[in-house]
Amino acid sequence: MQGLMMQQPLLVASLLTHAERHHGEQKIVSRRVEGDVHRYTYRQLAKRARRMANALGTLGVKRGERIGTLAWNGYRHMELYFAVSGSGSVLHTLNPRLHVDQLAYIIEHAEDRVLFFDLTFLPLIESVARRVKSPKVFVAMTDRAHMPQADDFGGMLMCYEDLIEQSDDVFEWPLLDENSASSLCYTSGTTGNPKGVLYSHRSTVLHTYAAALPDAMNCSARDVILPVVPMFHVNAWGLPYIACMVGAKLVFPGPALDGKSLYELIEQEQVTMSAGVPTVWQGLLAHVDALGATFSSMRRTVIGGAPCPTAMTDAFQNRHQVEVLHAWGMTELSPIGTICSFKAHQQSLPMPQRHALQAKQGRSLCGIDMRIVDANGDELPWDGESPGDLQVRGHWVTQQYFGADVVSPLCDGWFPTGDIATIDRDGFMQITDRSKDVIKSGGEWISSAAIENVAYLHPEVSMAVCIAARHPKWDERPLLLVVKKSGSELAGDELLSFFNGRVARWWTPDAVVFVETVPLGATGKVLKNQLRDQFGEYYLPA
Ligand code: ADP
Repeated sequence: MQGLMMQQPLLVASLLTHAERHHGEQKIVSRRVEGDVHRYTYRQLAKRARRMANALGTLGVKRGERIGTLAWNGYRHMELYFAVSGSGSVLHTLNPRLHVDQLAYIIEHAEDRVLFFDLTFLPLIESVARRVKSPKVFVAMTDRAHMPQADDFGGMLMCYEDLIEQSDDVFEWPLLDENSASSLCYTSGTTGNPKGVLYSHRSTVLHTYAAALPDAMNCSARDVILPVVPMFHVNAWGLPYIACMVGAKLVFPGPALDGKSLYELIEQEQVTMSAGVPTVWQGLLAHVDALGATFSSMRRTVIGGAPCPTAMTDAFQNRHQVEVLHAWGMTELSPIGTICSFKAHQQSLPMPQRHALQAKQGRSLCGIDMRIVDANGDELPWDGESPGDLQVRGHWVTQQYFGADVVSPLCDGWFPTGDIATIDRDGFMQITDRSKDVIKSGGEWISSAAIENVAYLHPEVSMAVCIAARHPKWDERPLLLVVKKSGSELAGDELLSFFNGRVARWWTPDAVVFVETVPLGATGKVLKNQLRDQFGEYYLPA
């Protein structure tokens, strides 16, 4: 047909090509595991990514083969993001916080051909290498001067900088099928074995377009972006790609994710936006508050992966003038599904109402549709009150896990998220629970997220986790586990009376247990199943 537009496949490499041509001088700053700070530009990133693409060819890597990475957020990891996917193989990011048995399972399942790793993970790699057959080549992401001994490896150990130096920087990014795989990430597998989610070039580029928009992550060429969310889990929520698309300055934190290190980096590099899970921001806020300081350049932060407590939104917005964008997503979605940014009529609402709205996970990005259904699969109304199983579909939702042995997870063409949520008239979704975490008291649902949110409003609460504990009369009742702020003398009764008037009386937990710490999983989320094992029989007679 005449008169149609050009057809260019949506490819990950095109994001880098754009950044090189149109934002070549823009900077990328990385804190390295070697202990120093590394600086270069998008132009140098693109050149080195081409060298690495040639190096992969020399190693005999073929299209479609998986290349593993076990690395922090840094420029070498960024180079692999483009060298691997751009040349047609599949970037398989591995989460170093997983147990070594799970890592070995994932590496074998994915049949990783080569495994790149940051020096921090050498001991982990040595234990993994003994358990797996698949990678024959291991590459330490460092220079010759920092290379470790090669004794304990099942395969060959190579040096990243040697590969770069020995390779040519001329490389034509191939015109791949946009529906071919670009990267692979496994779910953290809190229930059963981890499952692989295979992203395509097309889904990745479409996610990038949508997630960068003003009502989503709101990224531009004038931003300085600090991805705190790891590049080893769901592509750092897409920020490496988004930064290329918009030409933003990038700042990578490397391994130092404590409050002090992050605050120094934010101030030194004049970071304007960041993204991460609530537990990381808790450390940052505690540090900044203890200093009596504030942020000189930060304008907003995306908080997701777990519910963002209202108290955290208040701290960022009221004390520090940093706007909070509450987001929801999952590995199966590349990952972003919803972001909480106001519609025009909400902008002028009184502050308390706007803050209440920000406890919601927000509205769909264009490209993702969602609905809530009851136990029969019938759609529930968008009244902001009826909780149901959240289902999604769209351009960046998985339809089938990686590996032929797994049946499709879809129901009726929709992906069941395993989350329970409400949706209001404005299309704002709010997670009340994961289906496995929900508390069912006398046949009625209680939202653990809502209880935790209230607990966090108490000034002496550092961490709050609400779980279902079995109960002789009500089947289950909420039990609140709390880590107090240091020096606090807070008593259980005092905290429970704080719930008066803040939630329905029957939602108030029957007891509080003070604990020293709570167990966190590989992506920084609270492991509620472990806490249920430990405290799930609290209300039963001994
Ligand atoms: P996992 O590998 O543990 O499934 P994901 O990173 O894929 O890890 O986690 C996705 C899940 O995290 C969602 O299904 C949801 O339960 C939870 N989640 C993500 N963002 C939020 C949020 N803003 N509020 C509440 N829960 C969230």
